[in-house]
Amino acid sequence: MTPSKTIEKFSFGMGDHFARAGHAQLQAVIGARRHGIAVTPVWNKSNREHLLIGTEPTSVLEAARAAVGDLGWNGGFHVDDDHINLTNVDRFVESSDFFTIDVADSSGKPVAPEATERFVAAHRRYLGKLEIPGVDALLTLDEARLRATAAKFLWAMQEAGRIYRHIVECRGGGGFIAEVSVDETDLPQTPTELFAILAMIAQEEIPAQTVAPKFTGRFNKGVAYVGDRAHFEKEFDEDLCVLAFAVQEFGLPDSLKLSVHSGSDKFSLYPIINRLVKKHGAGLHVKTAGTTWLEQVIGLAEAGGDGLSVAREIYRRAHPRFAELVGPYAPVVDIDPARLPAPEVVEGWSSEEYVAALRHDQSCAGYNLHFRQFLHVSFKVAAEMGRTFLDALDADREVVARNVTGNLLNRHLLPLFG
Ligand SMILES: [Zn+2]
Repeated sequence: MTPSKTIEKFSFGMGDHFARAGHAQLQAVIGARRHGIAVTPVWNKSNREHLLIGTEPTSVLEAARAAVGDLGWNGGFHVDDDHINLTNVDRFVESSDFFTIDVADSSGKPVAPEATERFVAAHRRYLGKLEIPGVDALLTLDEARLRATAAKFLWAMQEAGRIYRHIVECRGGGGFIAEVSVDETDLPQTPTELFAILAMIAQEEIPAQTVAPKFTGRFNKGVAYVGDRAHFEKEFDEDLCVLAFAVQEFGLPDSLKLSVHSGSDKFSLYPIINRLVKKHGAGLHVKTAGTTWLEQVIGLAEAGGDGLSVAREIYRRAHPRFAELVGPYAPVVDIDPARLPAPEVVEGWSSEEYVAALRHDQSCAGYNLHFRQFLHVSFKVAAEMGRTFLDALDADREVVARNVTGNLLNRHLLPLFG
């Protein structure tokens, strides 16, 4: 399968909730290039974020184009709709060229029995021991497992096919990158399940170039990985082998690579990912999102004066709305309300105290991962503050940009791709 637009080997997804950080984000990518790292920026913003903030998808493309033009970036860039389905894809058809086709919600939907039989018959030759180059232990795929995977994912992948063909039709052809994501399902997928899912993607003739499985462990918003790193390493290693094998077996695009929906800031996994991607000569897409918004708040707090006041006000307004703000993100945060500081306490915080609590530095005594996760999901409040918030970002542009760029370059891009 040949995709109509080929994705670069290394790409990095960044979220810019308020269309104010594109320049500072691109500076991080340019900084990486100075270190000899060729990574393509992808600006991602989900439908949920657009709804919470009240923006249109075209604003992401406009902000990306402005940053690219102003900074004279001559590399590629992409705009990712970050999780779409048939109900909302139409909003993004014009302005995105990277479509994260999310069919996690369709997992487990009953599929026609004859479709299952057809799928099993077509893949019977893989039953038994699956000899995948690079995988030490033989993976086994028995008929029961193949059927169970079909029961969970076959309808979902048919749906992915319908979404893919809908996008082709709306755009009057291709010229875009298709990702299939199942990272928001209940359980992580084993490498064997990933193999079966790739078989289904190929059967639907989706020229997917990135696939986002759910990995083992917790990928909470903006905080450290929680899980068994040794298990993750083995799984990631095997997933890379499975992808390369599936490209050969099923004729999927050569550019097919893993997409890690990181939830941002999975620093303890970055060295593992870096090492394994190099070992396999593989490509990689890593998606982050809210880490930039948090750096904007850190920048305001660090600036002091009005900036610090705005940072305090965001928390003061957000705190009483805990249930409403956390609700949409409940599966991807672990916040203990009892560990959140009282708003009166935050009102008295100095710049240093606010920054220490929010900045993702686990060696810092003041760091509070509950506060950080809560602010991560509280961007709606900043959107409601309108000009007060945006003017503060403009007034403290330099310190905010320094935090945004430094965070992406030093804590994400260099460890991942360096
Ligand atoms: Zn995701």
